[in-house]
Amino acid sequence: MRVVYSPRYHIDIGAHVFPTLKYQLVHEALAARDGWEFVEPEPASYEDLELVHRSEYLQKIRAGRLSGEELALLELPWAPEIVDGFRLMTGGTLLAARHALLNSQIPNPKSQTGVGLGLHIGGGFHHAFANHGEGFCLFNDVAMAIRVLQRERRIARAAVIDCDVHHGNGTAMIFDLDPSVFTFSIHQQHNYPAFKPRSSLDIGVDDGLTDDDYLAKLGEALPKVMESRPDVVFYLAGADPYEDDQLGGLALSRQGLRARDRIVFAACGLAGVPLVLTLAGGYARRVEDTVQIHVASLEEAVRMRGCDGSTSGL
Ligand SMILES: [Zn+2]
Repeated sequence: MRVVYSPRYHIDIGAHVFPTLKYQLVHEALAARDGWEFVEPEPASYEDLELVHRSEYLQKIRAGRLSGEELALLELPWAPEIVDGFRLMTGGTLLAARHALLNSQIPNPKSQTGVGLGLHIGGGFHHAFANHGEGFCLFNDVAMAIRVLQRERRIARAAVIDCDVHHGNGTAMIFDLDPSVFTFSIHQQHNYPAFKPRSSLDIGVDDGLTDDDYLAKLGEALPKVMESRPDVVFYLAGADPYEDDQLGGLALSRQGLRARDRIVFAACGLAGVPLVLTLAGGYARRVEDTVQIHVASLEEAVRMRGCDGSTSGL
């Protein structure tokens, strides 16, 4: 199975709760198994980033002139490698989306559904707004990929299924009042961000929620997402609803997160909608837990969709 990744995703930001090393570790775990093929993306162009982000914001980033206040909001130390790393990961989500859409046009006898799948060991930077970055998110990769595909008329409509423990505030705001994109966020209500702009569908759950209750809420919500008739779904498979996450306050088990992934993949498969998987957050006390949760998401995606995109030529 083809999966988008670059070794340059591992940006050195010093001692930080955001483990950029996780990308490399997920890659290593998959590379040790048979059947995985890794594809390196191109960095997102500034022209494409301007489909989502304000030119003033991009100019400040290019010139390395974000203010102290802006950097505090971003919660990342400034370094040119950060810009390169985020441009690359944003390009990675676009490439994974192209894989999903390309696969969907190739009948695959191994596939139960015949619809496409794009996988990205990265992405899901849902706290980036049009005019500023927040919470480790410099650019909103999913929003940019949707806008690029709409510009190319590859898709008309899209949906975002955001299962990171934190609300998808940037994505909600970017697509506010845009009926072509359905934004769904299921998140811990009493957690960052304090201000939660309204998504198309928000489910804010209580602290300490466990597997069964979470899965029941998710299962009820997904048909509403599919009713929006998206041409593609972007799934943010955050590892941070995990019970031992440092920045999350929910109590999902590893098995619960795997069941969560299956429910999302099954809903998209049933509706015949191509799916793009991005990793989003994950800050478990033991980085290996975060890595294993992400690897499980990737494995389940392939298992559920039965797709093999390795023969197509992107
Ligand atoms: Zn998160």
